[in-house]
Amino acid sequence: MTTVVASPAHDARAPELSVIVPAFNEGAGIAMFLGRLFEVLRACCPEHEVWVIDDGSRDDTWTRLREECIRYPRLDGVRFTRNFGKEAAILAGLRHARGRAVVVMDADGQHPPALLPQLLEPWRAGRARIVAAHKVARTSDGWVARVNALLFNRLMLMLTGLDLSASSDFRLLDRSAVDALLAFPEKVRFFRGMTVWTGFPTERVGFDVAPRIAGDSRWGTGQLIRLAVTGITAYSAKPLGMIFKLGVFGMVAALLLLIQALYSWFTESAVSGWTSLTVVVLFFGSANLLGIGVLGAYLAQLFEEIKARPPFLIRETLRPHD
Ligand code: UDP
Ligand code: MG
Repeated sequence: MTTVVASPAHDARAPELSVIVPAFNEGAGIAMFLGRLFEVLRACCPEHEVWVIDDGSRDDTWTRLREECIRYPRLDGVRFTRNFGKEAAILAGLRHARGRAVVVMDADGQHPPALLPQLLEPWRAGRARIVAAHKVARTSDGWVARVNALLFNRLMLMLTGLDLSASSDFRLLDRSAVDALLAFPEKVRFFRGMTVWTGFPTERVGFDVAPRIAGDSRWGTGQLIRLAVTGITAYSAKPLGMIFKLGVFGMVAALLLLIQALYSWFTESAVSGWTSLTVVVLFFGSANLLGIGVLGAYLAQLFEEIKARPPFLIRETLRPHD
């Protein structure tokens, strides 16, 4: 089956580049970020548009955006009804962007706009359809954030085969890659993993993660765990296979214990075995719970997909288009 995608790129007025900026409670730094961004864009890519997606901010992000909109005619904004999460904000941006290439970047200044010319170069030269900014240093992150990132990436590599180490959402996608992502029917999305999955020719460009302009990171350990569960259950059935292997291991262990029990019964040796019994009960008890937990995670993922609710709802846009 072929999927026909109505692509905004057929639009002759499509700009060369669309920049998508998810923003949640970024009121304090958004004006400074946009100032930096437009300065770089004017120099390296005059045909551009910028979409800021206000992901249900509870601060003055939207008011600030409206003010900035007067200053920058190529700035546009979408406001969600509530906080739907960064993945939903990226998706909304991809749906609105009309550019022949699209860059996704954070609103907090951690993804330096100065890198844009380097992201554009391999794409303009036709060498890559995806240009991924790759974190060289995480100097601005605390140790908790670094340990979290390390565990998250290891787990993802082990269970899904996607190497996300040092990768970030800061990346340029060619229109063909954007259209491919938009054609995915799934509701639960994991942008970074999905772009790697497409397999389009990719180049990497290194960058140092800058400190935030203002505010704190919105990603706690809990959110990262949720992202990992989504990422794993959406990309891999390995955990289900692991439960099966655990089951086989358990059967073999149980068989060996049976032989031992029969042997001691025949030899009429003392009825010990309390310790081994406890170990077996505890082991299989927890293995059962683990298995049910993993099945539950997949079931939850299926439930989300089957409900097929919209991934976000829009409250208003800055410049309602035609
Ligand atoms: N963000 C968002 N919705 C959320 C959380 C974060 O749109 O629910 C945005 C946030 O405003 C920022 C980007 O996603 O532009 C990255 O978030 P953050 O800086 O908190 O993450 P970190 O840099 O620590 O990974
Ligand atoms: Mg950040």
